[in-house]
Amino acid sequence: MTALRQLEFPDAAPLELVSVGDWWRFAVSCLVRSDAEFGQSSADAGQDALFLVLGALDLPLDSFDQMHGFALTNSERKHVFNALRKRVLDRVPTAYVLGFAEQMGLRFLVDERVLIPRSYIGELLAGGLHDCINDPASIASVLDLCTGSGCLAILAANAFPDADVTAVDISADALDVARENVALHGLDDVVSLHQGDLFAPLGKARFDLIISNPPYVTAESMAMLPQEFRHEPELALAAGDDGNDILRRMLQEAKAHLTPDGILLVDMGHNRDLVEAAFPRLPFMWLATESGDAGVFMLHARDLP
Ligand code: GLN
Repeated sequence: MTALRQLEFPDAAPLELVSVGDWWRFAVSCLVRSDAEFGQSSADAGQDALFLVLGALDLPLDSFDQMHGFALTNSERKHVFNALRKRVLDRVPTAYVLGFAEQMGLRFLVDERVLIPRSYIGELLAGGLHDCINDPASIASVLDLCTGSGCLAILAANAFPDADVTAVDISADALDVARENVALHGLDDVVSLHQGDLFAPLGKARFDLIISNPPYVTAESMAMLPQEFRHEPELALAAGDDGNDILRRMLQEAKAHLTPDGILLVDMGHNRDLVEAAFPRLPFMWLATESGDAGVFMLHARDLP
């Protein structure tokens, strides 16, 4: 088994690989043999290879069934091969290799200045947040804290077309990427971007809905982070010993920035137990998504201290 796992990556694109399907199969094998890690924009080797091969060929990511039998040109073969080499040998996540990621069918530009979009809040927004919001028209203002690439702010603008969306990030570099994405989606007049620490740049502004996928990785997990995840900004991931450093400050200030019926929605990944242990008195409502246990909680303004 170990022999199989020792990847001998070829020096040049193998001539036997002709079709889109051939390249997908080869990419899956390379990812498996190299013990690649997933979870940033794809769940497993099959999905990651699909994203890599179709993405590098500028084909729609859902077009494999139509495209798998078609041949690549020589320059396309070199391009896919180089993309795969970066992914497998340098452990660069596929989204950074390609320069984009898709979330809920929308495309976002990404690079190492921003976290790769993957929050379950995206799925909840695309579903209209029916579990928490009876009347979407009642949402006139949305705040996205730790916006990174701007993905959730953009998905929120689409989910609540009557709302003004405000997005904040502490990283000026991340906001440069968010600005490009907001422009790409034609939302310059809808989404306003601010640089600063959580609520700091917002004065006394209040919002009907606050969403956030904050940094929540514990110090212990940061120490064991797979190589792929080390390409992402540490600032977007690390949140102290119990992963709650950013959440703690957010919870202290959130009530002052919510309207009386406002709600707070935060993605804390796999940290539900750590969150409940740290804030035993707060009535977190954990939301379910189609993809399973989401790690996203909801709190009403009235529940907050
Ligand atoms: N809001 C962005 C996302 O969900 C970035 C989050 C972050 O940087 N922690 O992808």
